[in-house]
Amino acid sequence: MSEIKNQNLTIQDDTVVSLEYTLQVEGEIVDSTGEDEHIQFIQGYGQIIPGLERQLYGMSSGESKEVNVPAEEAYGELDEDALGTVPLDEFPPDMPMEKGVALQLRDQDGESFDAYVESVGKKTVEINLNHPLAGKELFFSVKVLDLRPATEDEIAHGHVHD
Ligand code: ZN
Repeated sequence: MSEIKNQNLTIQDDTVVSLEYTLQVEGEIVDSTGEDEHIQFIQGYGQIIPGLERQLYGMSSGESKEVNVPAEEAYGELDEDALGTVPLDEFPPDMPMEKGVALQLRDQDGESFDAYVESVGKKTVEINLNHPLAGKELFFSVKVLDLRPATEDEIAHGHVHD
């Protein structure tokens, strides 16, 4: 069985990239596609972390690379002021309340935003609006599994079609 691949194609804007990756933070694996699994995205559309996307340009199919992404090109610097307190009884009683649990909250205008449980008291919950990986440097091991040019439809829609 042979698969025809365009060996000359390298990652540039409007390339559909199939990528296998492992993400480590402070020496621990926090996310991974697993072996023979992958994510697929169109390069140049900000569909993945900016600092990772930037360092993929020029890679070819089959190529592996270690990519370090500083916090400012990943989930941003930690904002010490992005903390808040919410009464415990505003949360559904069946909700697991412990550090790191992701919440979706709404502000006065009805806009939803993400927050994370920082700590749980008797009557209040401290929430943190920073992403759990804010302020952290990310270490990716990536392998490009496949590349192809995006179709006109995909470029118009800004996402990959199966
Ligand atoms: Zn579409």
